[in-house]
Amino acid sequence: MMGGKVALAFEVEATVDRGEASRAVFDRIRDFLEANRLGPDPVNYAFGYRVVSDPAGPLARAVAALTDGGVRLTKRDILALGGDVSNAPIEPPAAAASGEGLVAQTQMQVEGFQDLVRAMRNETADFGRDLAATADAMRVSTGIDSVSEVLRMTGAMLNRVQNAESQLEVATREASDLRAKLEEARDNARRDPLTGLPNRRALEEAYADHVAKGSPICVAVCDIDHFKLVNDGFGHAVGDRVLKAIGDVLAEQCGEHLVARYGGEEFVVLFAGIPLAAGQDMLESARQLVAKKRYRLRESDEPLGEVTFSAGLTAASSGEDVGDVFVRADGLLYAAKADGRNCLKIG
Ligand code: GH3
Ligand code: MG
Ligand code: MG
Repeated sequence: MMGGKVALAFEVEATVDRGEASRAVFDRIRDFLEANRLGPDPVNYAFGYRVVSDPAGPLARAVAALTDGGVRLTKRDILALGGDVSNAPIEPPAAAASGEGLVAQTQMQVEGFQDLVRAMRNETADFGRDLAATADAMRVSTGIDSVSEVLRMTGAMLNRVQNAESQLEVATREASDLRAKLEEARDNARRDPLTGLPNRRALEEAYADHVAKGSPICVAVCDIDHFKLVNDGFGHAVGDRVLKAIGDVLAEQCGEHLVARYGGEEFVVLFAGIPLAAGQDMLESARQLVAKKRYRLRESDEPLGEVTFSAGLTAASSGEDVGDVFVRADGLLYAAKADGRNCLKIG
């Protein structure tokens, strides 16, 4: 019973000591995070703990070298110095993979660059000032101390510049990787994955560009005839292959003009800078090629039967809204369907 009480008293004392020690560590971590304007997220906090708990250790020395001259640590520095990413706040995967996620990452990169460039400029300015002061001093006294001071400063400056250069090299590589990913995401957002053709968004952007340039524009809406029968008879996967095959023929026959998969089994062609009759010729040759082809099942060579498409083609008036042109072309397509399909209507 007595022994129990004594032990408890020691425990309380030890707990008080530990409490004070913990508070001191906590205070130092807080000072560290505040000095570097870092938020108290688990990665930063754990990093701060590692730095302050071993102030003479290699990590603390690396941090001191990086932050020498009032430069703040960045998240990238922390990760580069082995900050544990497994505890990092989890980014929603959709945002990370999306264009917006990449834009945010690129922005962070640019901010990192700015910090780095600012730090390099400060270093250079400090160096210049020190050098001027030393030169003044040398003018007064040509003692050996002044020369060795210049040498010492030059050596220190070279080290800092080399350090900054290697950081800049890493950042440049990361930025160009990100730029490539951003371009890929931008391209994916404007491409239909099934056919590989531009999508409706790309079409509308291209239309607006041509309007801005004042190019003459014609628009065709093409729709596969009785496509439902292909799906019903042979399955959706075969239907997908037919869609791709027809998209390929249209893209080939329309040359540099933009062929987009507009949705479902509909394609839209944007003819720019050519007369209506020239667009009509290209569409007509695509229609004839598709109608002539004997599509067969890859697996069994079974014929799919007749596959054709119908189209409506119209010229846009100057500055006309894309929606209005589309409605007119769609009306002509409807007329082609009513007229027995596998034909073009021009208006
Ligand atoms: P119409 O000649 O009047 O155009 O007849 P249709 O059968 O082509 O037209 P309908 O609008 O009745 O059917 C279109 C079909 O296109 C139905 C839909 O399942 C199919 N479809 C739309 N998108 C895709 C796709 O991405 N893949 C496949 N396989 N089928 C699709
Ligand atoms: Mg159809
Ligand atoms: Mg349709």
